[in-house]
Amino acid sequence: MIPVFIAVLFCVGSERPRIHASDVVFMYSASDPSQYDAYSGTVVGWGGRPRTRDQRDIEAFRGRVAEAHRRKMRYCASVDFLVDFRGFIDFRPETFMDAVCRDLDGNPLHVPWLWDHEYKGHPAYWFCTNNPNYQAYLRDQVERVCMAPIDGLHIDDYSGTSACSAYNGGCFCPYCMDGFRRYLKDRFSEKELREMGIEQVEKFDYRRFLKERGITAEQFRRESWRCPLGDLFQDFQNQQMKEVVGEIFEYAERLRGRRLVRSVNSSASSPRTLIVAPLIDYFCGEVPHHASTAEVPVEPVFVFRMVEALDRRQTATAAGHDWAWIKANGKPGLVRTWIAQAYAFGSTFMVPHRQWCYTRELGTHWWYGRPEDFAHIYRFVREHAHLLDEYISLADTALIYSNANFSEIRDAALKLAEANIPYVILAAGDESLPYRITSEMIEPYDYLIAGSKPLPDGQEEILQTANAKIVRWEGLDKLPDKMKGRITVDGSDPVRISIRHNPCSSDSPLVCHILNLNYDFEMDDIRPADVTVTIGESILKRSGLDVRFGMIHMIGGKSARLPITKVDEGVKFEIKGLGLWAIVELKGGRI
Ligand SMILES: [Zn+2]
Repeated sequence: MIPVFIAVLFCVGSERPRIHASDVVFMYSASDPSQYDAYSGTVVGWGGRPRTRDQRDIEAFRGRVAEAHRRKMRYCASVDFLVDFRGFIDFRPETFMDAVCRDLDGNPLHVPWLWDHEYKGHPAYWFCTNNPNYQAYLRDQVERVCMAPIDGLHIDDYSGTSACSAYNGGCFCPYCMDGFRRYLKDRFSEKELREMGIEQVEKFDYRRFLKERGITAEQFRRESWRCPLGDLFQDFQNQQMKEVVGEIFEYAERLRGRRLVRSVNSSASSPRTLIVAPLIDYFCGEVPHHASTAEVPVEPVFVFRMVEALDRRQTATAAGHDWAWIKANGKPGLVRTWIAQAYAFGSTFMVPHRQWCYTRELGTHWWYGRPEDFAHIYRFVREHAHLLDEYISLADTALIYSNANFSEIRDAALKLAEANIPYVILAAGDESLPYRITSEMIEPYDYLIAGSKPLPDGQEEILQTANAKIVRWEGLDKLPDKMKGRITVDGSDPVRISIRHNPCSSDSPLVCHILNLNYDFEMDDIRPADVTVTIGESILKRSGLDVRFGMIHMIGGKSARLPITKVDEGVKFEIKGLGLWAIVELKGGRI
């Protein structure tokens, strides 16, 4: 039987709009709207806004939204927290320099990856999202965005000044210094402050405090977290980020008078990137794909599983340097593997019709994917939407994620994915991540893999009461043998499996995604393989299904019956000529 709580957890209708597993998301609006038809598009994820308040710009933007709506697509407009530095220079032509992030020496900071951009003789300044004038410009962008009947809002570079403090040397502007002073005063007693070296908090200036301790601007840029009070300063900036991001979304929803599907340009790939999760409906952005290895990367799988733990979704694209490599080497076939993998693991990969490429040498440049290289995969996704939407990972093993154990759990997630050991991730959050594990959540699993550091907020105690076997992650070799071999693939290596079920519908089949990873660089394609897949009884039992029949769906092929053989371990099936991606439906009666 499907554990009831899982059904409740995932089947209660969410009031917020969502991105579905079968959505075909255009990263930018298409300059030629016929591309929407070619790719069977359903969403524009990062749809921009009127460039100015001129009627012509507004009408052009409304036209883009209308083009999408005519096709029943949802249109998410976007605002930029960093890259629209030109717009802000024009918005506050006399005072824009007052809003530039400052380093420890008071020097203006720039956006490092926009080194090749300039406007009216100015470089791409990193403007401070804590500056009220700059916040007024963010609201101005929202007002322009809301001049059309949009369905969602996307924020690019949402982390603003909190990213500047994390790795770009700032910000020591008066607003950040004031804000940090108030943060400390609100949080700590005078005694605690004195222990931190702060005698009079009213007069506290973090910049002077660091300078007096011999910290240099370069040191702060490289290792802010190691500088005195660096972790608190980052926490302050993270709090500020959440406030600004929340206000921007709420402002847009007020102006439009409805809920908008919310996203930021990010991926669930580090503790810092998870902070924003409660404020958004999906992550829409770059997930590094390590194109230069010319292999199908396993790393994105961690992100796809992590968003599932947060009840979110990733609409992925690759990183700027990945697209630069694809452009330089002319390898759309490698991109096809990225698309298939994202969908097989419950997330989506955005249509690669117009891709931002970046290298240190070439700066910003662009690559344009052709529909003939990709559209058939997206059509395959749409045709099999019923085998994707509402589905979640099926597993008897759960990895217990906590921020403190990030590296271990990520390592475990990748190693288990490579070994085709099914798992889910459960998030044991902390102050910055408002998710908590409960006894009901962990109850259905046979194995719980945890990191070496205890879970926060009483969750370690909950973990210890579990009936499941708790395994501290020390590598694949140290896992109990029983955990391995639940799913085996014979005949070709490497093949990656993702097994998913629909807890909302007891009539739905079990779905097994089979990805052939045999990418050939010269051919720029997958070498077909004959494989035999065995799925163990312990996994099948969890789906509540007595599997007797199978159907197979492959890109470019006809759907066909797939003979299923019962074996001692569970069920077995053979696939001849497995291409890039097969979806196998497993059906039968309820147990
Ligand atoms: Zn600042």
